[in-house]
Amino acid sequence: MNEISILWLTAGLSCDGDTIAMTAATQPSIEDVVRGAIPWIPKVTLHNPFLSIENGDEFVDIFRRGAEGKLGPFILVVEGSIPDESLAGEGYWASFGTDPDTKEPIKTCTWIDRLAPNAWAVVAAGTCSAYGGIHAMQGNPTGCMGLPDYLGWEWRSQAQIPIVCVPGCPVQPDNMMETLLYLLHMAAGRAPMIPLDESLRPRWLFESTVHEGCDRGGYYEQGEFADAYGSKTCIVKLGCWGPVVQCNVGKRGWMGGIGGCPNVGGICIGCTMPGFPDKFQPFMNQPPGSLLSSTAVMTYGKAIHALRRFTQASLNKRRT
Ligand code: SF4
Ligand code: SF4
Repeated sequence: MNEISILWLTAGLSCDGDTIAMTAATQPSIEDVVRGAIPWIPKVTLHNPFLSIENGDEFVDIFRRGAEGKLGPFILVVEGSIPDESLAGEGYWASFGTDPDTKEPIKTCTWIDRLAPNAWAVVAAGTCSAYGGIHAMQGNPTGCMGLPDYLGWEWRSQAQIPIVCVPGCPVQPDNMMETLLYLLHMAAGRAPMIPLDESLRPRWLFESTVHEGCDRGGYYEQGEFADAYGSKTCIVKLGCWGPVVQCNVGKRGWMGGIGGCPNVGGICIGCTMPGFPDKFQPFMNQPPGSLLSSTAVMTYGKAIHALRRFTQASLNKRRT
């Protein structure tokens, strides 16, 4: 395949934060991908409502051609959760563009129904699109859900690729672009089937926990836990879920390797997990289980820490 389009639909229920996050990517950057600076991938044309030159009907027409199978190969990226329109009564929850004949809004669900069967691959950008996210929390009136719940977890694209979920609230910029780059290498016939875990996340990005890559891991091990914000020590007692959450932000940082929630003092609230947000609330409480582990670490870690201090003191001297 020499050319491919990316149709990026932001018309789910969302804050559009995944699109904004993507503009911060550097590994690779969106500019490098669309300007052809990355070798061995097809020529990419990106259609995203925030970044495209086309506007209004001209922009919607591109998606219309995709729905009619007249666009050539494309990757469909969906941002935002998908509402259950059967609960909308007389109105509707989410739409994009209008029908030229009826002048009625075209529902986001209708776009997905029409585009997904023609897509070479389908990507859920961000947790809303992957698993429902914030909008799908208990008590929401829209009945919204993620793409795998909408299309089916066993759904396959034209190229027999499962839905690829890149969760995060918002998605970590480089995780999103690296996943797209992997798919583009697949489209060029240069990469095997993308490896996904049981939640359809790229395995290499989501197999480790936040804790395993956190800058504060040493404090956890030494049993040094903060009781208030502003401390450099481990923030598990303030509500950090890092030990059980699969996310590489601790290791990768946020932009250009800098930042990443617990690294910069923010508790991990589990935003890459299918159970987010309901299973992680109330956010500011110490997660269940962490009390036991932190108590164990406190005893063991403090003893080790004392011994290490002794060793460190000796290592800081040329001779004992
Ligand atoms: S701040 Fe969170 S992720 Fe980091 S070491 Fe503590 S519990 Fe683990
Ligand atoms: S560290 Fe936690 S809160 Fe931060 S992006 Fe990862 S899963 Fe979300």
